[in-house]
Amino acid sequence: MEKLKQKILKDGQVIENRILKVDNFLNHKIDIQLFNDIGKEFKKRFQNKEVTKILTAEVSGIAIAAITAQYFDNVPVVFAKKHDASNLNSNTYESEVYSFTKNKTYKLRVDKNYISCEDKVLIIDDFLASGSAASALIDILYKSKAEIVGMGIVIEKNFQGGRKLVEEKGVKLESLAIIDSFEDGVVKFVK
Ligand code: 5GP
Repeated sequence: MEKLKQKILKDGQVIENRILKVDNFLNHKIDIQLFNDIGKEFKKRFQNKEVTKILTAEVSGIAIAAITAQYFDNVPVVFAKKHDASNLNSNTYESEVYSFTKNKTYKLRVDKNYISCEDKVLIIDDFLASGSAASALIDILYKSKAEIVGMGIVIEKNFQGGRKLVEEKGVKLESLAIIDSFEDGVVKFVK
């Protein structure tokens, strides 16, 4: 998606040649026009698919998923919770994630009432890196026995192996910007 790539080149900051900081439009301040374009692009990439729910992970996936849902007939968005909350039902599907950016392990949880075996679910998230978060979302959907329609990722760093993990599970993956490498602080996209 050319507009997204241009935005990354203009506003993204490469940290230690491994992390792309995109707080200026994706992870802290949100560019709503760009998010609408992202939602439209996901609709285009999954246009012939029936989707009954979108699944994402808190925090940064929520806004992307919510805007994207408007292009999929306003289907409900379910976000997996990362934090132990006293108001979270204990009847949950859960799966573990290792966070490479934070160097720690945490659990993602989804209330069993919010995804059923009759759902056809599109997974949406901001980044795909090592694939740990993506695998946990897929695992949650396996546990729920819902159908996985596919996975839409805004930014993929293809040198961290996440795509292989997702595709090995037979999940159709669409990433809107695919980064091949960081070279001296400069983002290089896959052609
Ligand atoms: P993975 O589990 O695929 O290694 O990483 C996915 C999650 O880590 C994403 O949802 C995102 O929150 C975070 N992440 C991984 N790499 C980056 C990065 O380069 N920049 C930012 N902003 N987040 C990242």
